[in-house]
Amino acid sequence: MTAPTQEPVEVLGWWADGEQHLGTVLGRLTDEEFAAPSLLPDWSRHRLLAHVARNADALVNLLSWARTGVETPMYASPEARDAGIAEAAQLSPAELRSEVLAATSRLVQAMRGLPAEAWSAQVRTAQGRTVPAAEVPWMRSREVWVHAVDLDAGVGFADIPEDVLAALVDDVFRMWDRRDQVPDVAVFAGDREWGTGALAVAGTLPEVAAWLTGRSDGSGLEADGPLPTPAAWL
Ligand code: ZN
Repeated sequence: MTAPTQEPVEVLGWWADGEQHLGTVLGRLTDEEFAAPSLLPDWSRHRLLAHVARNADALVNLLSWARTGVETPMYASPEARDAGIAEAAQLSPAELRSEVLAATSRLVQAMRGLPAEAWSAQVRTAQGRTVPAAEVPWMRSREVWVHAVDLDAGVGFADIPEDVLAALVDDVFRMWDRRDQVPDVAVFAGDREWGTGALAVAGTLPEVAAWLTGRSDGSGLEADGPLPTPAAWL
């Protein structure tokens, strides 16, 4: 007998560690440093943190959908998503810092309060994919670990635990596979490998994950030929 979808214990651990990691990075930024660019094109750290806060609330919506059965999308529309970020981006650095922490603690409450059977309830992501609520901790894990790097505040992919890095690369390949965008590569990191393409690419797991998620040009990687530019991940 197969067990029903249950609390995703391992991923919940990655997520909790990721929130703590992001909180530490956030705590290091002075108010003045919020206005500086993040590593994401055209996004300041301030705007990125506004997105991080709104993303937590959006995921609370999915958990409440799973708990109650009442359809509650992450965002009412793409415009509403942008408007929410723009609004949070108007906050002062001190207010935004509190808002990120408050939104995170709303998400923590929603995760903790989710009844066991609700983890298998089907909800819909902002990309329109139907997934069990058990995906939500992973959806947030990848946000907090990767955006902590994007804040350009002294942490990198090498600070992300190996299991999370491997799960990130799995996620990238799964996304590409769904969209038929898998590049013609076979990627190697230690004893792990992804893809069955013609171009062999090898490097450390942090370097591989940074390249495949579009966070580096892959200059630290070894390859038999020129690296392709991987398709966007999310
Ligand atoms: Zn994001």
